[in-house]
Parts: sequence; structure tokens; C-alpha cells
Amino acid sequence: MGLNSDHIKKYGKTVASIAVILFLILSLVLISKIIPLTSRGSLRVSFLNVGWGDSAIIITPENKVIVVDGGNNYNNLAKNLKARGVKEIDLVILSHPHKDHLGGLVELVDRYPVKKVVEPAFPFKGSELYTEFLKNIRKNDIKYQIVRDGDRLNVGDVKVDILAPEKIYKGSGTDANNSSIVTKIRYKDFDILMTGDIQGAGIKDLKDNRDELPAEIIKISHHGEESGTPKELLIYVDPKEAIISTAPNNSLGFPEKAVLDRLKDSSVRIWRTDFQADIELVSDGKTYEIWPESF
Ligand SMILES: [Zn+2]
Repeated sequence: MGLNSDHIKKYGKTVASIAVILFLILSLVLISKIIPLTSRGSLRVSFLNVGWGDSAIIITPENKVIVVDGGNNYNNLAKNLKARGVKEIDLVILSHPHKDHLGGLVELVDRYPVKKVVEPAFPFKGSELYTEFLKNIRKNDIKYQIVRDGDRLNVGDVKVDILAPEKIYKGSGTDANNSSIVTKIRYKDFDILMTGDIQGAGIKDLKDNRDELPAEIIKISHHGEESGTPKELLIYVDPKEAIISTAPNNSLGFPEKAVLDRLKDSSVRIWRTDFQADIELVSDGKTYEIWPESF
């Protein structure tokens, strides 16, 4: 049977209908990716690719800004703040004074309007960088607070609960890491656990806070070093997503296989800055979306 004009009309209509449906599906996919980023009422978090180090920018639904650690250098952090339209920072959290966390913050507190800095005040003797950081805070008259387990901060609708350190640890080569600030960032029913580089004794004390540990997202401690993520901690936190901030082919071999295995065994999705660059996240306080920059 040959095609008559009715067949051609029908065929044309079907093609047009399929095209409309495909267009609608594509629009929905694009809208679902774009709307959370631009709409008000969402928490936005960027776990930055800073090579070996940690840095995260948190923008609250009211456009208040929290920076947790600054990576090794200011330029990378400044570029990322500019790209996100940040003009002033409400809260800077230094987890501990090692350069891969402090490096970018030293110039930040001198060049950006910063309202408040919190840090553990680990006695990091002989560190010029840390001395300069404290000097810049004083010079710019920035509010400064030493925080400990139990302290609570509010940044608009977002709560920042300090779960560690309980105290400054002394007596081992990992004292500065063990004394890391661990924060739970809370927006409505959505929680992120930021663990700094906590290890050993610090982890032991952190586990005393087990009731406060559950979080959808965990920033894995110490670039994926084994002792920073014991199995017991994962049981208490019960995360769905884990962010590992580390450099490609680093000499320490972090993240360690044991950590990756523990996360896989607990069915936690793994996101890595060394493979996927920045890890972006938005949440309305109930659900969330997470995706890598390389997506
Ligand atoms: Zn580190």
C-alpha cells in the first residue's frame, strides 16, 4: 500500500507530537538542574577542588556566606567567591591551622569584608602563616571566637553546631589534626558534617556526641586517611554522600582503600575532588541535589 496524503499528515502529526514531548522532557531536565541553583530558599554548598587541602563555600537561603577552610592559596578561593557573586563573608571557620586549610584564609580576612572568624586556637608555634592570620584578623577588627564542642552559631536560617574539639590535644604528632573543629551545618531537616582533619583522640571524643552526628552528607576527614573515618563513625553519621577532598596521585595515597571500602560497604556514594573537580550541592532543607563540576 502506497502512502497517500492522509498517511503523510498522520505521520507528520506523530513526529510533531514526539518532538513536543521530547522538548518538554528536556526542558524539565534542564529546569530541575537550573532552578535550585538560582532560586531563593535553597542552601548552596561548593566543596572546592583545591588540590591537596580543604575548602568549602556555603551560601545560605538568605545569601549569607560561610567559608570553611581556605585550601593552600587565596587565588583559587577568591576566583570561586567571585564566580558565586560573594561580596562579603558572614563566617569563616578554620578547622585547624595547617597550611592546606589555612593558606587561602590569610589573605581572605585581609581583602574581603569578613564579619566573624572561629577557630580552635591550637598553639601552632613557629607558624608564620598562622601568626599573620591572627594579625590580619586584629588589623581588620574582625570578630574572633575560639570554639569548642557544645558551642552553637547561627548564620540566618542555618545553624552551625560545633561538635569538636572537646579540648586541645597534646602529646602526639597528630595533635593539630585531632584538635580540628568539627561542625554540623543544619538547614531545616538537612545536615552536613564537616570533619576537618580529625583523627585519633579527637574522633574518640567526637563519638561521645553520637546523637548529634547523623547527617546526609559527610566531608571525609583528613583527605581520606584511614584513621579519620573509622567504621563506627560511619555507623553513627549514617551518611548518604561522602565528599573526599584530595589531590590526584598524592604521595600519601589518600584516600586510602580502607576508607573507600568502608564507604562502599555502607552504601555511601563517594564524590572526589581529585577526579570530579568541585562538588556542588543544593538543598531546600528536606531534599538535596549533588553533582560534580565535571558533570
Ligand atoms: Zn589537611
